[in-house]
Amino acid sequence: MTSRPVRMFGDPVLRTRADEVTEFDESLATLIDDMLETMDDNQGVGLAANQVGVTRRVFVYDCSHVTEGARGHIVNPVWEPVGEETQVGSEGCLSIPNISKDTERFEKVIVRGVDKDANPVEFECEGLLARCVQHETDHLDGVLFLQRLSPELRKEAMAEIRQSEWFNK
Ligand SMILES: [Zn+2]
Repeated sequence: MTSRPVRMFGDPVLRTRADEVTEFDESLATLIDDMLETMDDNQGVGLAANQVGVTRRVFVYDCSHVTEGARGHIVNPVWEPVGEETQVGSEGCLSIPNISKDTERFEKVIVRGVDKDANPVEFECEGLLARCVQHETDHLDGVLFLQRLSPELRKEAMAEIRQSEWFNK
């Protein structure tokens, strides 16, 4: 396993829609292993392939500190809300370091996809894991959490980004 560099805000790959995975080969398994290591290395709760510069529809997650056993990966994820209830909570992103803002998400979702061997995966989740599923699937569509903020908070976040050391390197 290799920890790969995380792409930062401003990198066009983060604005790119990732492609459906159609080949379940060794390179997919390696990508997933590397993404898990990269996420752990950066103390993340989730990581999408775009964030390591790969436009394939896969993300990894680890919310096991909140929900027992909630660690894994999903290929070609699709989610839908369960009920109308939403949650507002602090959200951040490894590609936008040191910036977190209240972001509204659905409280409960059901997510479907496949694993690295093309076996079907489906589960319902809530709270942090549901937030993670929505955040990471957004990445695969080229969408960042900044785009989910209220105009006021987005302005705040953009100002903080412009002043960030990592952004001005
Ligand atoms: Zn992110």
